[in-house]
Amino acid sequence: TEDLNKPKTEYIKSFQYESRLIPSTWVVIRIDGCHFHRFSEVHEFEKPNDAQALNLMNSCAVGILEEFKDIVFSYGVSDEYSFVLKKESQLYERHASNIVSSVVSIFSSMYTVKWKEFFPDKEMKHPPYFDGRAVCYPSSEILRDYLAWRQVDCHINNQYNTCFWMLVKSGKSKSDAQNDLKGTQAQDKNKLLDRLCNVTDYYNTLPPMFRQGSSVYWDKEEKKMVNNDEGSVGKTRKIVAVKYCNIIDPSFWEEHPEILN
Ligand code: ATP
Ligand code: ATP
Ligand code: MG
Ligand code: MG
Ligand code: MG
Ligand code: MG
Repeated sequence: TEDLNKPKTEYIKSFQYESRLIPSTWVVIRIDGCHFHRFSEVHEFEKPNDAQALNLMNSCAVGILEEFKDIVFSYGVSDEYSFVLKKESQLYERHASNIVSSVVSIFSSMYTVKWKEFFPDKEMKHPPYFDGRAVCYPSSEILRDYLAWRQVDCHINNQYNTCFWMLVKSGKSKSDAQNDLKGTQAQDKNKLLDRLCNVTDYYNTLPPMFRQGSSVYWDKEEKKMVNNDEGSVGKTRKIVAVKYCNIIDPSFWEEHPEILN
């Protein structure tokens, strides 16, 4: 039966459109939660930033790095995460649809499985899901520009959202708060926050996770002291680290040359 079926199988398969990602380029898979504005309301996320929701996203990203060893770096903010596949990766023979679909599906599954760990007292009301895309970047300079773009976006959105929710919590309606912020520059927003909270440089007192987003990567080997019969010995191992750092500044990449080597 196998032999008789062969011509038909090949004919049917010929309709499959194969899109392979350009060889020897950095691949970024960016996933984004679908309708998370609503998901965050239904699940009463703290506004503008629910720390536990972000920790849950970060924990899923750690799981992704452990699962897909070709992912060398990832950056997350709000309901999105960017995963960087190393240039020479042959994951799914670089078929974009397989790579993207497996990353979004495992991320969504992990988000659901880990939910109770981060929200022990909250019932999940409906299933979260994510969309994703893959984009190739031909050089590490352009890849770093991509990541810088995401971090700038994090900063701009966070500054706006922090002001918006501060105004709303001070008693303004959402549309009044929106009008107050129309056309304001970064400086105006900082002054507004300082005035509303009566704290100098209030924005910079916010947790780094909110201001910088989260970077997840295999960190340099860590020395750990282990006690055994012969006394203390140094042990090295690699772990997936979650850090809240400035990835626009070249110093981060100078301090971690192995990530984009
Ligand atoms: P789309 O399906 O087009 O992506 P969306 O509703 O998910 O629509 P986004 O632009 O992706 O819109 O924005 C995500 C929204 O999710 C934010 O605007 C915010 O309201 C909410 N959100 C995500 N993460 C958090 C969080 N940690 N704390 C509070 N709100 C969050
Ligand atoms: P890949 O990741 O490449 O898809 P796979 O292990 O999922 O690898 P498939 O060719 O997709 O391999 O085959 C699915 C396998 O899952 C089957 O060979 C079978 O062993 C198992 N499986 C799937 N559904 C059932 C089921 N309902 N009952 C028992 N086994 C099942
Ligand atoms: Mg989207
Ligand atoms: Mg979204
Ligand atoms: Mg988003
Ligand atoms: Mg398969």
